[in-house]
Amino acid sequence: MAQSIAPPSSAAPASGAAVPALPLKTILPWAFFFGLLMLVLLYFVGAEQGATSLFSGTDVHEWVHDGRHLLGFPCH
Ligand SMILES: [Zn+2]
Repeated sequence: MAQSIAPPSSAAPASGAAVPALPLKTILPWAFFFGLLMLVLLYFVGAEQGATSLFSGTDVHEWVHDGRHLLGFPCH
């Protein structure tokens, strides 16, 4: 399952230098890692409050408070 992502030929730089193709096998672990990282961030912004809180106190909530309002999570 070696797939590569290659730009269309019209997108090649004018100098003629070829853009290296990135195999999907190389990108997949990084995509999974950053996806997991984004889920953790989404948890802290969206659900780290009240009964679902992992940390006591309101420190985490205060740090991500503006992000909550920006993303439309209910807050207060
Ligand atoms: Zn708020």
